[in-house]
Formats: sequence, structure tokens, C-alpha cells
Amino acid sequence: TGKLENVMKLSYKPYTLELRHVFTLATSSRNVTPVVLVSVESDGYIGYGEASLPPYLKENQESVIRFLSQLRLGPFSLAQSLEEILVYVHSVEEGNAAAKAAVDIAIHDLYGKAINKAWWQIWGLDRLSAPYTSFTIGIDSEDQIKQKTKEAKDFRLLKVKLGRDTDKMIISAIRSVTNCPICVDVNQGWTDKHYALDMLFWCKEQGVIFAEQPMPKEQIDDMAWLTEKSPIPTIADESFQRLADLDVVKDVFSGVNIKLMKCAGMAEAYCIVEKARLAGMKIMLGCMTETSCAISAAAQLSPLADWADLDGNLLITNDCFRGAELKEGKIISTELPGIGIIPVSFV
Ligand code: MG
Repeated sequence: TGKLENVMKLSYKPYTLELRHVFTLATSSRNVTPVVLVSVESDGYIGYGEASLPPYLKENQESVIRFLSQLRLGPFSLAQSLEEILVYVHSVEEGNAAAKAAVDIAIHDLYGKAINKAWWQIWGLDRLSAPYTSFTIGIDSEDQIKQKTKEAKDFRLLKVKLGRDTDKMIISAIRSVTNCPICVDVNQGWTDKHYALDMLFWCKEQGVIFAEQPMPKEQIDDMAWLTEKSPIPTIADESFQRLADLDVVKDVFSGVNIKLMKCAGMAEAYCIVEKARLAGMKIMLGCMTETSCAISAAAQLSPLADWADLDGNLLITNDCFRGAELKEGKIISTELPGIGIIPVSFV
């Protein structure tokens, strides 16, 4: 590797994202999300990455920092391939998907910058052909839902969290304000397959275009039954993490929700897209609550998706990057190289 400045240097620090609204799911509420921000430096370039760690995942800031502290990127330089570095990162320890995603994103940003190309260019995609992104309306009172729906007028697809006894009230409240298409995320909230099927037919009548994770991930046979009879596509989220899970979910759901934090980053996400397409599956590209760093990394892939759900950076008040932006209902990557971001208050 020779000269010291060509040696790869990994840095990281914990950071806490402040949420604009208290975020309520079927199982929890919260107003912050812990993340770990990562940078990898080599040859005068700096690549940025991020691990987002919502509390329902196994990883946390401590586990990410423990994983990152084991990495030795010193022997690597831009002379090696990106794949070689990722093989090493994956070899250090099993699991740690979000921690690995942070490094994967930073390495992609670094390599893109070194050849002065964005990843949508490297992958031969048209950045403007991204699908509409959904904007999430959390579980709330009827008046609050109407108010939040009015505030979401820049979006062409609304996402609603269902899975409680207020499901029909929430959809009806939105429909009283807008005709905008809706997608629903049940977060495993419907445990009876017949009830779930009735709800999916009712949802379709209300202009719902697909349903994410209607049933608990343990109920595989019920879920396969539901998908076969459903009038709208079903998308696996909690049931789907990594590339290897595709073999199971391809016969159980109509599509998969790919999130960089679940699948260890951009390299594996790209492979999932290719393999899921061969299996005839729909592709949704999702996110956690994240800064514009991880969102912009996901946006590089979004021209390959049927639906995007990349609103995570819009839900926070202390974003420390600028990158992919909302334009006419779509999250569009910038023309900047790498993952297309600029740090505004990093480290
Ligand atoms: Mg989901």
C-alpha cells in the first residue's frame, strides 16, 4: 500500500436523530432514533456511511461501535476492489447488518468519488426515473391524521401504519381529505387470515395499492394463503432481511421491502433486486429513520424499484447531510459522485 495517505482510515461516532413527530407503530412509540455515523478516508477522498438503529432491531450503538472497532482497513487502499474490502468486512463476524451497511455505504461513496461517478451512473440507471416515494402518516387521532394528510400534499403516495382497531377510521380520515393513492404497513398486526383478507378487499376499495407485512412473520402458511387470495400485492418487511431469505418469501409474498440496514448495504441490495426480479417479485425500497446519508445511498438504487419509501430524513430535525431531494413526489439523487451527498455538520 506504500504511502501513508493511501491507507484507508475508518472513523465513527454515535449521533441521535430527533424526530419531528412522536412516531407510533403497532407495537411502540418513540421520539428519537440512535445512529452511528461512519467515514472512510483514502487518497484525499472521504466516503460517508451510517447505521440507523431503531429500538426494535437487535443492533444498537454499542454493538455497532464494538463491530467497527474490530475492523482493520489499514491494509486496504483504492488499489483493491470494493468487493475485496466488503468480503473482508463480512468475514469479521456474522450478523451486524446495520454496522456492515454503514461501512458498505461509506466504501461505495469513497469509490464513487474516486472515479467521479455517482452509483446510479455506474449502474447505468436514469436518476430521474425513480418511482414515487411514500410519506408515512403515523397512527394518531382522526383530526391529527387529517392535518398530517394535508401537510403531505407534496407526495403522490401516502403510507399508513395499520394493525390496530382504528384501521378503518385512519383510512377513512385520509380519504375525507385526499384521493392520493395509499399503501398500508400493518407491521404484522393482523393475526387472523380471514380478517386480514376482508381488510385487504376493503383497503382495495379505498384506493390502497399494496400492503406491507399484513401478518406475523411466524404465520408463513397463513401469509401464503393470504397472498394467493389478495386483490393487492403483499410485501415482506419483517419477514425479509437478507438475500438468502428470498428463497422462502418468494412463495409467500408478492414482493420484498429492501432496506440497506437489513441487508448490510448497497452491494447486497443490488443483488437482491436482480434475484427478486428473476423470481417475478415486486420491489419496494424502504428505510429506517435516517439522515440524508443512508437515504441518498438507497436513492441510488431507486430507479430499479416499483415503489420507494425513502422519507426517513424528512422525519428528523437534525439532518447532518444534504443529498437526494424530493421532486414532484420522487426522491431524486443528485449529480454528485458516490452516493451524492454533502456533509453540512459532520463531526
Ligand atoms: Mg414496514
